[in-house]
Amino acid sequence: MVLIRINYNLLRMASISIHQSPIHLFSNSTHFLHRLSISSSSAATCLSASSSSFSTVCSPDKRISRYENTKAVLKGMTYTEFEKWVSSHGYRPGQALMLWKCLYGDNIWAHSVEDLEGLNKDFKKMLSKQAEFTVLKMKDILTATDGTRKILFTLEDGLVIETVVIPNEKGRTTVCVSSQVGCAMNCQFCFTGRMGLKRNLSAAEIVEQAVFARRLLTSEVGSIANVVFMGMGEPLQNIDNVIKAVDIMVHDQGLHISPRKITVSTSGLVPQLKRFLRESNCALAVSLNATTDVARNWIMPINRKYNLSLLLETLREELKSKHKYKVLFEYVLLAGVNDSIEDAKRLIDLVQGIPCKINLITFNPHSGSKFKPTSDEKMIEFRNILAEGGCVVLLRPSRGDDQMAACGQLGNPGEIQAPLLRVPAQFQAALEAAL
Ligand code: SF4
Repeated sequence: MVLIRINYNLLRMASISIHQSPIHLFSNSTHFLHRLSISSSSAATCLSASSSSFSTVCSPDKRISRYENTKAVLKGMTYTEFEKWVSSHGYRPGQALMLWKCLYGDNIWAHSVEDLEGLNKDFKKMLSKQAEFTVLKMKDILTATDGTRKILFTLEDGLVIETVVIPNEKGRTTVCVSSQVGCAMNCQFCFTGRMGLKRNLSAAEIVEQAVFARRLLTSEVGSIANVVFMGMGEPLQNIDNVIKAVDIMVHDQGLHISPRKITVSTSGLVPQLKRFLRESNCALAVSLNATTDVARNWIMPINRKYNLSLLLETLREELKSKHKYKVLFEYVLLAGVNDSIEDAKRLIDLVQGIPCKINLITFNPHSGSKFKPTSDEKMIEFRNILAEGGCVVLLRPSRGDDQMAACGQLGNPGEIQAPLLRVPAQFQAALEAAL
């Protein structure tokens, strides 16, 4: 596997400059990573602004480079902002559109002025002085035996994120993008959760993962038309940048991804989830993974703040005003923890009245994990109980796990890790039996 160095400088600064987590779940922890929760959309700004040792992202569309030149980050702008910026430099809307198409459409996916086609010389000269085309640097690309690709990108501040491309023989190839570096949610079954949160990604850093995936892999895997926000991080903790990135991705002269083919996943941040459902037409996935608060409080500590009944009641209410909209519940089956027949029956009751589909997901083991995957037979039994109870349910096979590219396997926690939580007494025996 690829070795990734943690930027301790950044961690140290982050512990000073970022306020206490809005989720006070971790406030008693002595582990400082848990205090790195960033609720602000401009978290990247806070982090970078206090640094003098690396380039900074000062606003969605401006960057001060190592050489202190102020350049506009093109992929951090919505089309309206983009057009305004082009016209502020004396160029017409038609030229803005041509440039936008070079960045996102027409199979160009320009990474520099040299890649631009059909633009006049003066415009290109201005762009080379005033505009930044890329914010990611490809570090490595790993291919799993099933064809899943994991792409590692280095950010301007040296941190590393991961993006996964999952080919599909029916042409529904999906790119799974990261929204944060690490994650503050500390879900106990997730490798990324071990990292703690380093920082939010900017809109440009999110959008460019999809652009890069198309540029690098379209010729090999065909069209990449689906985007899932299921990579590193809790997307709704970075909701402003996620909504902005989605706005850029759906533009019909650019990447032109249908909102229904973009799925944003959450561990259950209720206020942000409400906002997302009201402001966005994209699909929503909720990572549920348990049918009791006791189990969910342990494996998904966010449940201590927003418990199951609040989460599900919010969805029930909010979806009343959404036409033909189904939420996707994701349920990772963990042997002896959440995979009993009683769990299946409780799950049927819990989702009553919520238009939904349920994805049953195989647990992908990783080093240090206490959990074991549920057997195939038991997964099928669980699926059958849900289907007989009237649920729309799918078994989702694991993809890319031999390259740590599968669900819950992204990232590199390094030496400083978020702690594993105490196992509640009622799960001790079951967990030991499963091991
Ligand atoms: S499952 Fe998602 S929300 Fe939970 S720790 Fe992992 S990345 Fe974060």
